[in-house]
Amino acid sequence: MNKQQIEILKTLLTEQLQELIKHGNDAVNGMKDAGDNLPDPTDRASFDADRSFMLRIREREAKLINKIQAALDRIEEGTFGICETCGQKISFKRLIARPVTTQCIDCKSHQEVLEKAIGE
Ligand SMILES: [Zn+2]
Repeated sequence: MNKQQIEILKTLLTEQLQELIKHGNDAVNGMKDAGDNLPDPTDRASFDADRSFMLRIREREAKLINKIQAALDRIEEGTFGICETCGQKISFKRLIARPVTTQCIDCKSHQEVLEKAIGE
C-alpha cells in the first residue's frame, strides 16, 4: 500500500469511528428521556425490552469502536495492513471492504474453515 491508500483508509476509519460515537451518544440520550416518563407497566416492560436490545447493539458497537481504534493505532505504528497470522500484506481491496481486519483473505478463509470444522 502506498501513503495515499493508507490516508484513504485512515479517513474511512476515522469517519466510521465518529459515526459510531455520535450514534452511541444519541442512543443513550434518547434512552434516558424515554425511560423517565413511562408510568404504565406495559410501556415500561417494552421499554426494558427495547433497552436490552439497545444494550446488545451498544455492546457490538463498543467492540467495533475498539477494533477501529486498534486499526488506527496500527496505522500510527506502521503495522497496518499486515496479516497478524502470516505477516503478508493484506490487499488494499480487502482493507477498503473491511478496514478493521487483521488477517489476509487466505488466513481468514483458512480460519473460517477450521472454525466450521470445530463447530461441527
Ligand atoms: Zn495471512
